[in-house]
Amino acid sequence: MSYMKKSPWIIHYDGSSCNGCDIETLACLTPLYDAERFGVINTGNPKHADIFLVTGAVNAQNLPVVRQIYSQMPEPKAVVAIGICACSGGVFRECYNIMGGVDKAIPVDVYVPGCAARPEAIIDGIVQALDILEKKREALRSGKVEELESKDSLPPMPEKTKRKEATP
Ligand code: SF4
Repeated sequence: MSYMKKSPWIIHYDGSSCNGCDIETLACLTPLYDAERFGVINTGNPKHADIFLVTGAVNAQNLPVVRQIYSQMPEPKAVVAIGICACSGGVFRECYNIMGGVDKAIPVDVYVPGCAARPEAIIDGIVQALDILEKKREALRSGKVEELESKDSLPPMPEKTKRKEATP
């Protein structure tokens, strides 16, 4: 990790989940799993964050929030979808209000499957994100801003899902 020029700051947002992956993500920051050994610092401010950890699926209510947090993060930035709900909608996929995984809202760099995702897998995802972050930083340094912007640009807003008619 000696190539890292600064400590990577993470921000965590829980979308529409059962809180299982949420709890495992927070466990990564405890002394037992100790993600801080990689220099990781947890922040509540997107303007200070380099890596966006998202648990849970997206729905009509949280999709704009996820997009806003992402938009407020400075370049370069990386996104890690944690748990199968964040990867694809998971067990909530068929729910009337679920739009799918996090990539329906923002570009995702690393997918960490699992239900719940294990802390070891989450830390592995964060370490992969560190490498991606460094490559993006290098792209910025060498002036490939357009390439980075097209990769990190927001996908179009999905059509708002409509509530299924209640069966009588
Ligand atoms: S992947 Fe499983 S544990 Fe994680 S939020 Fe979804 S249902 Fe809960």
